[in-house]
Amino acid sequence: MIPVRDSAHTGCFFIRTFGCQMNVHDSEHIAGVLVDSGYSRAASIEEASVVIFNTCCVRQGAEDRVWGNLSMLAADRDSKRIVAICGCMAQRHGVEIFRRFPIVRLVFGLDALARLPELLESSRGAPICDLGDVNAARIDELSAIRKSGLAAWVPISHGCDNMCAYCVVPSVRGAERSREPGDILSEIATLTDGGVLEVTLLGQNVNTYGRDLGGEENFAWLLQAVGSAEGMRRVKFETSHPRDLGDDILKVMAEADAACEYLHLPVQSGSNRVLEAMNRGYTREYYMERASRARKAIGGVALSTDIIVGFPGETQKDFEDTLDLVKTVRFDAAYMFLYSPREGTSAFGLEDDVPLDEKRMRFAELEFVQSEITRESLGKIVGSDVEVLVEGVAKDGRHIMGRTRDHRVVVLPADEAQEDTLVRAVVCGAGGHSLRGSVKEVIIGPDEATNRHEVQG
Ligand code: SF4
Repeated sequence: MIPVRDSAHTGCFFIRTFGCQMNVHDSEHIAGVLVDSGYSRAASIEEASVVIFNTCCVRQGAEDRVWGNLSMLAADRDSKRIVAICGCMAQRHGVEIFRRFPIVRLVFGLDALARLPELLESSRGAPICDLGDVNAARIDELSAIRKSGLAAWVPISHGCDNMCAYCVVPSVRGAERSREPGDILSEIATLTDGGVLEVTLLGQNVNTYGRDLGGEENFAWLLQAVGSAEGMRRVKFETSHPRDLGDDILKVMAEADAACEYLHLPVQSGSNRVLEAMNRGYTREYYMERASRARKAIGGVALSTDIIVGFPGETQKDFEDTLDLVKTVRFDAAYMFLYSPREGTSAFGLEDDVPLDEKRMRFAELEFVQSEITRESLGKIVGSDVEVLVEGVAKDGRHIMGRTRDHRVVVLPADEAQEDTLVRAVVCGAGGHSLRGSVKEVIIGPDEATNRHEVQG
């Protein structure tokens, strides 16, 4: 538990985060700001005097989960707690949220995060909506409380300059703004000094890092520099746009010891017609060449992807092109989604003409094909030794889990490993989505990891 500091604010807070890793990291800053001003973290939503939902609106399902959570809180009419909303839904719906859920007292944007303690106090009097300027938000210099002492997310850019037809991100996160290289490297140095071994560099499109800064530094340079930081053992990154994945990036991935053998490269569709309608800026042939180049350049690289099923106008032939691409590239993992129209995107004006039943059938077929490929990919690792950064309790609640350098999930017996350690394990078996292992050697144990972290600026 994080200690309460002397301050005017003595409440306790609970943050529920929806959506991507960028949101999870933003929540680490929200926690940092609140703890700095005297709040402590509540163990559950029921115990909290302040509840913050850090939201996602990329898909309708993500929004519906937030509305559902608000409905549950609204049922508790006697509660005196303050409910606040931030993240993508705050930017998208603004004051409309108060009309729909009067229990919400505060809607804030990341640009207002430094003012959060004052806003929470003031919102006791009247509801407040403070979104600030999404293009001016600079939260990287604020305190952050990271869950892990060995692994950390580090944003390198915010926003996105692309206009993928289905994507609401540019309208809620603004234009691409790269962080200054010196600021990123000094954050990395603080993290490694504190014992962090793995960083994941975050951006909507990491590959275009630095383009807006006008200097020499690009993503390949940054990857090399972060990988060379003293004490750095693993560097991962996401997300890469295939169009901007240059050979210089692949070269650093192949040569820098710390650069992990993992590449998440969203393809979204295997049909050139659909890719063009999505405004992705590449063809299936180009994508397959990049994937094949990555596999050749980086020994043992694991490739994962995102695919949208049922984009407007997607025919059976288009879908078969996607299936064909999946069978050809043989992704080690894939995250698949049914298309859902999002207001504020250019695709919103297109007829959502693939019937839901058809979308579901295509999704099921794609999922079946990919699950066989994933199973085969995982099966090849059985019997090998892998390095596992242990993250915490597994989904079943009885085991502990961590990730390999190539981002596979390894489930370990709970009595063999502890959270926040680095171990070497032998892979004993493979399931549909994860590996089962047994610990052979503890590389960094709990004693070495203790006191490395908790609050990092
Ligand atoms: S690259 Fe496309 S999908 Fe990714 S955040 Fe930017 S607009 Fe959205």
